[in-house]
Amino acid sequence: MPELPEVVVTLRGVLPHIKGKRVADVVVRNSRLRWPVPESLSELLAGKVLVDGRQRAKYMLFRFDHGHLMIHLGMSGNLRIVQKGVAPATHDHVDIVFEGGVVLRFTDPRRFGSVLWLEGEPEQHRLLQHLGPEPFEESINGNYLYELSRGKTTSIKQFLMDNQVVVGVGNIYANESLFLSGIRPKKAAGRVSRKSYELLSGNVKTVLGRAIEQGGTTLKDFAGNEGKPGYFKQQLYVYGRGGEPCLNCQSLLKEIRLGQRSTVYCPSCQK
Ligand SMILES: [Zn+2]
Repeated sequence: MPELPEVVVTLRGVLPHIKGKRVADVVVRNSRLRWPVPESLSELLAGKVLVDGRQRAKYMLFRFDHGHLMIHLGMSGNLRIVQKGVAPATHDHVDIVFEGGVVLRFTDPRRFGSVLWLEGEPEQHRLLQHLGPEPFEESINGNYLYELSRGKTTSIKQFLMDNQVVVGVGNIYANESLFLSGIRPKKAAGRVSRKSYELLSGNVKTVLGRAIEQGGTTLKDFAGNEGKPGYFKQQLYVYGRGGEPCLNCQSLLKEIRLGQRSTVYCPSCQK
């Protein structure tokens, strides 16, 4: 599943090819995504210039003068640049064709992704208005997490993955940053110390930042016609390693389910 780093890297990969360009046409081959692709998308975008793009949580927001095209990759989506005339494959559902023949192509086998049009301020949209801050914001620090978690009996891992607390900390990154911070995933969020939260907020940024950096090097080819941008393979300490030795102390890593998500930790390193 594409996580925040994939979204950041995808946006960085595609934006230089389309920023400042005028839309010539929109081709919707299948509008039945998580929410229907608006029927009027072609009329809305044809002749308009894509001014800029940014990411908010796992949404990509492409700005036009009269609104935003909002794309979410869902469970299996990807976005890439192809040249006009490259034949679409089965799951290539939407093409935004720009003047000059550059095409932004949205592919999504499982169709949990979305392509929506937003008028007005994106932050007010129902999908965005309740989201917490971005993980790289300065406001995400030990004090913020500590204060917000007082009295909370939910596990620290679920607290960290709550989009209203901070966006973009997916399962892999929650597992990894808790390991690096020496915090046991099922510990109640309200019982984690201020000092541990300071460590944790730093490690969340480190782990996500490293994934973005690695993605930037492994996913150079957003404009290639062959293949699709894959998802990142990274060096992971605990995620996917249940039953294997801890890379720090050699104890066997434990795997449990927490909020239906696979959770792996070291019983010696994480308290
Ligand atoms: Zn260990």
